[in-house]
Amino acid sequence: VIFKDYVSGFLKESDMQVNNGTLKLKLPEGSNGIVVKNLYLSCDPYMRNRMTRVEGPNHFTSFTPSSPLTGFGVAKVLDSRHPNFKKGDLIWGTTGWEEYSVITELEGVCKIQHTDVPLSYYTGILGILLLMCVCVCVWGLDIYVLACEILIQMRLLYALYMQMHPKTICMPGLSAYVGFYEVCSPKKGEYMFISAASGAVGQLVGQFAKLMGCYVVGSAGSKEKVDLLKRKFGFDDAFNYKEETDLDAALKRYFPEGIDIYFENVGGKMLDAVLLNMKDHGRISVCGLVSQYNLDQPEGVQNLMCLIYKRIHMKGFAVSDYYNIYPKFLDVMLPYIREGKIMYVEDIAEGLESGPAALAGLYSGRNVGKQVVLIARE
Ligand code: NDP
Repeated sequence: VIFKDYVSGFLKESDMQVNNGTLKLKLPEGSNGIVVKNLYLSCDPYMRNRMTRVEGPNHFTSFTPSSPLTGFGVAKVLDSRHPNFKKGDLIWGTTGWEEYSVITELEGVCKIQHTDVPLSYYTGILGILLLMCVCVCVWGLDIYVLACEILIQMRLLYALYMQMHPKTICMPGLSAYVGFYEVCSPKKGEYMFISAASGAVGQLVGQFAKLMGCYVVGSAGSKEKVDLLKRKFGFDDAFNYKEETDLDAALKRYFPEGIDIYFENVGGKMLDAVLLNMKDHGRISVCGLVSQYNLDQPEGVQNLMCLIYKRIHMKGFAVSDYYNIYPKFLDVMLPYIREGKIMYVEDIAEGLESGPAALAGLYSGRNVGKQVVLIARE
């Protein structure tokens, strides 16, 4: 899947092109990389941010026009010149949007250890930070955690992260965990609202909040998604924001006493309406602003004064700042998945040729759950 050129406005399927061609699967002379068969590719909202020409220091690095897209995926090793990988290994990390890839930069690749969960989960619920992952493989978990603590103390981690970019990628499972437990400071019985609630991140945040004993309401863009929130993920209530002409009135209906915690995934008009409905001393965890990613000029937010009147704590986070949370995350998440305490819904598009539509569909809400592209089953 070729990224044709920098995009302005809404991402369209036609901004990408599926090419049929013969791939040279040989590793370059002197390289100690790997050749892989790609199995699953992850569609993530941040990819739109990489389709804009970025100049100067930035959180995102632009894709190269006329080159294959790259992203997070799961693959099987066909050939290896690297001692840590052998033929037949399953890996996850940065790969190309193509059927087969030659990967020469292995900082972004990690061997899959637990295969008792669906492989596609490594693009979502179990997705973690690649840099961290590599360090864990090389050093072991204990030394990794110790090194992180030291780096954080020395304020070096952020600089290191910027050096490694774009090989460092953040993924939904850890984002939900960090954004909820670390940023929201949740307490049993609190009233919580989540936007884009049925997506890769939102569905997990809602389930964490229910396990914590919060009252949880989510918004999503279709009846199917609203039903999913209530029936599958156990939200107390949910609504289709596209059917509401007055978001402020809708939130007053669902939260007559106000919102303690808002998990922000979309921004724009929703944020404005939420600000009017927050309780005093409420918390807002800003994970993403997907409604803004396709706008050449981001919308303004009108009700920011509420932050002052209501003493609201609003905090943005980049999951990449929370490397040291990983051991805690795995300890919590793997048993939750194995015991069926956390559900995860994926939207699996079949075949590489479905990739452009699947990716563009994220910005119109076509996906129901985590959007994955299945290339091959193994
Ligand atoms: P999703 O699986 O939720 O897919 C995106 C969803 O956003 C769509 O399905 C759609 O759902 C909704 N959406 C799209 N456009 C709009 C719009 N204009 N207004 C309102 N809703 C819209 O994505 P993720 O769960 O992977 O990501 C959720 C957010 O988290 C994103 O903003 C992403 O950038 C952010 N993120 C941040 C990280 C961090 O480190 N801070 C890490 C990972 C993700 P619907 O049908 O409900 O409209």
